[in-house]
Amino acid sequence: MLMSQLYAPTLRETPSEAELVSHQLMLRAGLMRRSASGMYTFLPLGLRVIRKVEQIIREEMNAIMGQEVLMPIVQPAEIWQESGRWDEYGDEMFRLKDRNGRQFCLGPTHEELITALVRSEVRSYRQLPLRLYQIQNKYRDEIRPRFGLMRGREFIMKDMYSFDKDEEGLDASYWAAYHAYERIFKRCGVEARPVEADSGAIGGDVTHEFMVLAEAGEDSVLHCLKCGYAANVERAEGVDRKLPAPNGEKQPLQEVATPQVSTIAQVCAFLNKEPQDCIKTLIYLADGRPVAALVRGDHNLNEIKLRKFLNCDVLELADEDTIVRITGAPVGFAGPVGLDVPLYADYAVKYILNAVVGANKQDAHLINANLDRDFQVTEFADLREVQPGDPCPRCGDALEGARGIEVGQVFKLGTKYSKAMGATFLQENGVETPFVMGCYGIGVGRTVAAVIEKNHDADGIIWPISIAPYHVIIVPVSVKDPAQTEAAYKLYQELQAAGIEVVLDDRDERPGVKFKDADLIGFPIRVTIGPKSLEKGEMELVIRRTKEVRSLPVGSILAAIREILEGGEQE
Ligand code: ATP
Ligand code: MG
Repeated sequence: MLMSQLYAPTLRETPSEAELVSHQLMLRAGLMRRSASGMYTFLPLGLRVIRKVEQIIREEMNAIMGQEVLMPIVQPAEIWQESGRWDEYGDEMFRLKDRNGRQFCLGPTHEELITALVRSEVRSYRQLPLRLYQIQNKYRDEIRPRFGLMRGREFIMKDMYSFDKDEEGLDASYWAAYHAYERIFKRCGVEARPVEADSGAIGGDVTHEFMVLAEAGEDSVLHCLKCGYAANVERAEGVDRKLPAPNGEKQPLQEVATPQVSTIAQVCAFLNKEPQDCIKTLIYLADGRPVAALVRGDHNLNEIKLRKFLNCDVLELADEDTIVRITGAPVGFAGPVGLDVPLYADYAVKYILNAVVGANKQDAHLINANLDRDFQVTEFADLREVQPGDPCPRCGDALEGARGIEVGQVFKLGTKYSKAMGATFLQENGVETPFVMGCYGIGVGRTVAAVIEKNHDADGIIWPISIAPYHVIIVPVSVKDPAQTEAAYKLYQELQAAGIEVVLDDRDERPGVKFKDADLIGFPIRVTIGPKSLEKGEMELVIRRTKEVRSLPVGSILAAIREILEGGEQE
């Protein structure tokens, strides 16, 4: 490709719409352009990268017996009503009607459609396992589309679905996908760490997210440097620390006036206490039933854990009226003493001696509240959000906190969809049995954005060779010099004939402009052809990642390039 003809409109200035480096660089390097909020057109260079990532994914999916299919983007409402997700999905789903008023949606995901397909076709255990995948646009009307490809409303996803005859089969499919994901991200030149995750609304119970650890990430991850445990904060397990009984004497329970003092910070300042001496009492409605959740003052309640523990569908913080009715006080003064609703407490609450709690009375708190003597707890459980520094649930070492970009996720769905949608097959013994399913997603665009977050410098993108839009750019310093131009075209043809993806910068521009574009776009290798070196029969080979410059005889350029390209994806 000649640079003069390549449609790669690079930008010198950083577009104001872009906050993240990856987003800025994708616009500046001319990889893509925004068409509407969360929707992008890929330009030639961007599309080449996307296609390379897709190809890596395809190879690895095929290697684990995945078979590629392509389902429609537009899906009928009926199948979503069968699974119960037509209502559950809410505003994130793009919905539309056809001319006859029939309802459809733009697929945010494809569990329903594939289950409907397989249920009408696959009858026997002999046809299992079946692993089908596609690479296709997904549509989600995200509340906050942002950061370019990171959180779009239209985005490319690889989604695979596995159908097995039993749990053991699912286990094999799940781990095959898990290991394929490890290979995919490695081949794309980025480290993505599998972390235990919450399965959320999609159902199922075992799931891992693949996280690229980066400041730009929207997820919080906790990981243990000692034993390798890693989990999303939504999921990370808190431990019952089994501390020795707290030292000191139980002091007499006492009410103190705390006028207009209601937050933990205010209470601590007012009473000269530490947050860990306090108990936070939160009133929730679990499927409409009031309950109280207790956590230590310096901890946050993890609502996902509480909802799972209570096994309820809807968990919401109680409204002000309910709080007044239940506690007898306005918001900010709830406490466990004398409270007449079930009390669920995080483990850490067990070990607080002489706690500060709300008095269930306006402008009042109690000090020296003690478990058993002053209040009882219905049940203790792991209910809090784990924080950096907390003990690892596996080995007890301190956990580290990090930000993560979720580039993929694998789920064991079990029979959630097959049962709801009546998708069954005949077991060996003739018994009709629902398929045991798994699903496995990768965000293609988000992966590209994550790669850039981890591979750039002040000058631009540094592509891993495996997904670079082109491998090499040849830059003659001046195209007005026939000797340089001739040498440039000769090398260009030689590289092309050798199957190397190469761009020749044939523009009549100053060398500085050409070098800037080459660095911005991030070609892994640049060959510079200048008058002085050419006289010596040499050209300069510049490695984008290290900026290393090698002067080499013209005749050995191809071999040197080959060696670098074959040397691997990490270059
Ligand atoms: P998130 O929690 O970030 O909203 P998700 O868990 O809802 O994502 P999945 O349903 O697991 O997403 O989708 C599989 C993969 O698709 C994700 O791991 C992510 O890489 C990608 N993905 C999901 N939503 C988006 C989006 N809005 N824009 C770009 N990629 C996305
Ligand atoms: Mg996910």
